[in-house]
Amino acid sequence: MKKPAIPEFFGRTRDELRELLASDLFDAESYRSDQVYEWLYARRAREFSEMTSLPRPLQSKLAARYTIPTLGIRHVSESRDGTKKFLFTLEDGRSIETVLIPSEMRTERSRQRKTLCVSTQVGCPLDCKFCATASLKLKRNLTTAEILLQIFEVERTTRETITNLVFMGMGEPMLNYENVVRALRIITDPRTEMLGKRRVTVSTSGLPDEIRAFAREGLNVKLALSLHATTDTLRTRLMPINKKYPLPTVLAAIEDYYKITKQPVTYEYILFEGLNDTPSDAARLAKIARRVPSRVNVIPFHPIDFTHPTGVSRELRPASEANFRDFLSMLRNAGVSVFIRSSSGKDIEAACGQLALAELPPTAGTQKPIELTFSAE
Ligand code: SF4
Repeated sequence: MKKPAIPEFFGRTRDELRELLASDLFDAESYRSDQVYEWLYARRAREFSEMTSLPRPLQSKLAARYTIPTLGIRHVSESRDGTKKFLFTLEDGRSIETVLIPSEMRTERSRQRKTLCVSTQVGCPLDCKFCATASLKLKRNLTTAEILLQIFEVERTTRETITNLVFMGMGEPMLNYENVVRALRIITDPRTEMLGKRRVTVSTSGLPDEIRAFAREGLNVKLALSLHATTDTLRTRLMPINKKYPLPTVLAAIEDYYKITKQPVTYEYILFEGLNDTPSDAARLAKIARRVPSRVNVIPFHPIDFTHPTGVSRELRPASEANFRDFLSMLRNAGVSVFIRSSSGKDIEAACGQLALAELPPTAGTQKPIELTFSAE
């Protein structure tokens, strides 16, 4: 895919905005461009006339050339557990989903946690067999603005402050590398008062070159690898990208990410009945988890029957409650730091792996949900 252009206006980083405002077009000093930057991303102005610290002629010049974009909210579904799924319409009429997940933990501090799961592509080309988004195929990459606006619109409409951000919605973030990195520079810049680096996680299916490049960006956000299998045979069945980048290659890149950033890595592991839930799987997973400081998020499989799955996808079943618990115990006994990832939003098809632009009332899953107590993070 060809390198995306620098955004015309909204979505530019501080340096990119300075460059634009210093050009003959505006001939503005750098402190003026910093003011514009803060109006856009910290104060979230929606009109240039709101930028009252700017001289009127500059406001007018900007307004004559640019508009500040918004995202149209087409639908919001709310789960019994408080999770909200937003269906956004983009300028070209395409749609994406974004999920706001409240904390399920009981301490006062954790109760204030609001995690937003953002999308980075319309659809996804990677065809992971457990993922509803795969059924959409790739339509296009999101722009930097469209990534940022998911946060802005959710905060504006819910009047909630997002405390944690995960790039785990629709799409593979590393396949929209430039726009994701640009959005992260803005999000983690203290001047935009958005989020600290430690509160942002980017999840990838494992693209080694991009993982290494990402480590060198200096962003130092958290990285999560969608692992889901500990042998190449099974991982290739579940995630065809594994054929191109087999486990040894991906895990070597993860090691490099740790060496460069010194950030512990998260491994995501969906537990499937009879496929990856045996004692041997747990032993191999523990061995992988020990390679660099890490944690393992074990995730219940959320059925995707509403996408009318075929082939391998049709055979996938969530691990039984007993197997789930045994698997966690085996990992813990092996000294692995292990957590259960939430099933929040399952009833509105907003849980992990379920985003597929389902607009109709959700069809009931055929599997009985596993009820588990969450470990405090
Ligand atoms: S799991 Fe992620 S990478 Fe795989 S198909 Fe779904 S959205 Fe794409």
